[in-house]
Amino acid sequence: MIRPILIHPDPRLKKVVDPVSDITDELRAVADDMLETMYDAPGIGLAGPQIGLMSRLIVLDCVKEEGAAPRPLIMFNPEIIASSDEKSVYEEGCLSIPEQYAEVTRPAEVTVTWMDRDGNAREDSFDGLWATCVQHEIDHLNGKLFIDYLSPMKRQMMTRKSQKLKRERARA
Ligand SMILES: [Zn+2]
Repeated sequence: MIRPILIHPDPRLKKVVDPVSDITDELRAVADDMLETMYDAPGIGLAGPQIGLMSRLIVLDCVKEEGAAPRPLIMFNPEIIASSDEKSVYEEGCLSIPEQYAEVTRPAEVTVTWMDRDGNAREDSFDGLWATCVQHEIDHLNGKLFIDYLSPMKRQMMTRKSQKLKRERARA
């Protein structure tokens, strides 16, 4: 089932959300919905708060090559346990801030721990687009958006544009 995605500004996108203590069938179904919603958008990552789920759950799939096998990841309680000193810059976007993009500098490589769909503890390192995406999604769980890395002026401009788009969509 495709879920509606919250558009910035929304107070739910500014909250630090709670860890998942028990991976229930209901939460597994939400995670599957989130992947479906992300692929449909289309996007490469989606975090719980973006659909109003105030729990530490993100999904991502940064495989971009045409015809390549998808690699969907479901992460409950993801945590960055190590970040490289080396940085990388990507032009980021966000399904909650549609049609707007800006360059953000982040660690080029991160090591992340999480629980998978079956509740198994997992750990992996990510680089390239995967590293940017997983950091962007984990930020969502801490009420942080990619525009928070930009200058106040740029952030206000993008917020106003997003607000306008949100009003237009509400009217449509
Ligand atoms: Zn986002």
